[in-house]
Amino acid sequence: MALGTRIVWFRRDLRLDDHPALRAATDGGGPVVPLFVLDPRLVGAGTMSPARLSYLADALHDLDAGLRARGGRLVVRRGDPREVVPAVAAEVGATAVSLSRDVTPFAQGRDAAVRDRLEAAGVAVDAHPGILIRDPGTVTSADGSTYRVYSPFRRAWARLPLEPAAPAPGSVAVPAAVPSEDLPTVASLGAAGRVPSGTIRGGETAAQARLTRFLDEAAHRYHDQRDLLGEPGTSRLSADLHYGTVSPRAAYLRLDQDLPGHESFAGELIWRDFYGHVLARWPGIRDTEFNPELRDLPWRGEGPEFDAWREGRTGYPIIDAAQRQLRQEGWMHNRARMVSASFLCKDLLVDWRLGQDHFLRHLVDGDVASNNGGWQWAAGTGTDAQPYFRIFNPVTQGEKFDPQGRYVRHYVPELAAVPDRWLHHPWDMPAAVAREAGVTIGEDYPAPIVDHAEARRAALAFFRRE
Ligand SMILES: Cc1cc2nc3c(=O)[nH]c(=O)nc-3n(C[C@H](O)[C@H](O)[C@H](O)COP(=O)(O)OP(=O)(O)OC[C@H]3O[C@@H](n4cnc5c(N)ncnc54)[C@H](O)[C@@H]3O)c2cc1C
Repeated sequence: MALGTRIVWFRRDLRLDDHPALRAATDGGGPVVPLFVLDPRLVGAGTMSPARLSYLADALHDLDAGLRARGGRLVVRRGDPREVVPAVAAEVGATAVSLSRDVTPFAQGRDAAVRDRLEAAGVAVDAHPGILIRDPGTVTSADGSTYRVYSPFRRAWARLPLEPAAPAPGSVAVPAAVPSEDLPTVASLGAAGRVPSGTIRGGETAAQARLTRFLDEAAHRYHDQRDLLGEPGTSRLSADLHYGTVSPRAAYLRLDQDLPGHESFAGELIWRDFYGHVLARWPGIRDTEFNPELRDLPWRGEGPEFDAWREGRTGYPIIDAAQRQLRQEGWMHNRARMVSASFLCKDLLVDWRLGQDHFLRHLVDGDVASNNGGWQWAAGTGTDAQPYFRIFNPVTQGEKFDPQGRYVRHYVPELAAVPDRWLHHPWDMPAAVAREAGVTIGEDYPAPIVDHAEARRAALAFFRRE
């Protein structure tokens, strides 16, 4: 009997290595249609930042090249997947569609609608892990509930067995007659000339090289350096993990857990799984505080404070460096994300949802689950949240995590000649030092938009609803 055609619907699992849905489709040896749907709701100049569009275009080209090396190719279509996937299934006479299970409310709604239509047409849908190391619902407490706190989640996570990673299939037999649109480019996606110059190269080949380089050169010192803003101490794999050009399971399995650096890196991959579990279980937290007691706080909306923050002109060098790194590279160091998010929510009392949306749009790794977890942590409203009374001081954070000022001098070059002693609070510079450094506060660089000590008092009153 001839084997039925199977579709592998790629979304944010743009790789060949360790891809359970792809293996399920190719293992039988029958015809396979590797499909990517350009959904205008997600992929458009107005919705995704140029950095993200650039990464996506790279990743699709690399996936196509990898499939061609195995005798196949990527089939690209444009439109609403709820229409397109069932239409392609009918066109190629597919018997099944394989996909990797996603955790966001958007993806879950979309996938449920596609599944209903496919099953009504007699096409089976098989959902596989591959986006997280462990899928939502697989790490639960003894009574089957989802953990609200990271540490017990991590302990339970570590107790479960883990399947070995599956190698990429040797061949992928794609029927010749299936038409495809051209692969998208930065230009066709409407981002030409707007991609930040520091944007990383996307795709499985570049991602695998990044992972190998990190494991060989930096992972052993990750534990000591991950918080230092001026050092290349982290993996920069977040976009690769978000688009699935690196398998989180394969990355985890390559770590040597006896090395402290590797062990703490493993902990971050597990944070990623944790936030995926939390969002899948409580999808409403995308827009609502996880902690019900902190709902309906009178946050500020858009306005001059939010503009100064996102444009990197708050007058606090560490915050401005962070926001300018985001603009220049579509990426921001984790410590900078924590300090900058805290500043928006606690010093400026601006709604964390505005910060969340700004990050999601501009970060090349913008990820609904991890971004929401990070923002709710910073606002003090989430799981494991930083309590509202713990408020980062942007000056001491700068002094601690950018002691030589490499980070600030790189992204805020107008302060390059300010001595270390004053770099994180340049408004305190004596006039002679400021002259020597060529900086007049209020002209060459802004005066601080708030006084941190006063802002701190105001934040405490705000959270206590005084
Ligand atoms: C306010 C805020 C917003 C954030 N938004 C995002 C986001 O949109 N997308 C995103 O991938 N990460 C987000 N993070 C988490 C973290 O900042 C980034 O994953 C990290 O900076 C990416 O750099 P890296 O790959 O060099 O990380 P590494 O330190 O090398 O960590 C390795 C991987 O572990 C995962 N990871 C690390 N830290 C976290 C964390 N705190 N939560 C969840 N996963 C983590 C990431 O996938 C990361 O690539 C956010 C954190 C905060 C505080």
